[in-house]
Amino acid sequence: MAREIFIFWSGGFDSTFLVCKYHFEGNTVRPLYILNCDPRQNTQAELETVQRIASKLKLSPPLIFDAFNLTLDPDIIRESNFWFHRGVFTRPINQFGYMVQVGRNLQKRVVAGSVKEPEGFMHKLAPNNPQSVFNELAYPVLFHTKLELNRISLALGFADVLRETISCWFPVTVGGKYHPCGNCHMCRARLAFL
Ligand SMILES: [Zn+2]
Repeated sequence: MAREIFIFWSGGFDSTFLVCKYHFEGNTVRPLYILNCDPRQNTQAELETVQRIASKLKLSPPLIFDAFNLTLDPDIIRESNFWFHRGVFTRPINQFGYMVQVGRNLQKRVVAGSVKEPEGFMHKLAPNNPQSVFNELAYPVLFHTKLELNRISLALGFADVLRETISCWFPVTVGGKYHPCGNCHMCRARLAFL
């Protein structure tokens, strides 16, 4: 049965994989984008990618939230600090706190595209801490690697869309178009299999 799926979409490989999968399965995809939730965020390049792919797939345009205008609930702040002080989070507040808050404000269980990566933490945090506020999000590919997502996208026929994503933390602009730097952690993770 077709469902309405609310999903955080950064324009990167993992979240775009989920957007495509839910869309091509016949669901109604409701993309969400949060501005200013991460100091490494490449807002212009990300939003440009999200809007370009959304229009190509004829999705509804992303609902945009600004982290500066979001008030985090005390329990989200408390747990974020808890993981920060244990070295799991690199910042006291990160994008996941804002994602949980947006889900609460919308009263929806929102999908996040976290995958299993060596430097990732959500595949260890969420399943091992059932009471965690971060379990308010759904992580359908939490135990998949990027390589597996790439294989699935080839089998399902939307690998070409994933080639248009941008994951780079430091994209370069050439002639008004964004290009990945090829050298940052995100680029190297992609080059390993693309
Ligand atoms: Zn890069």
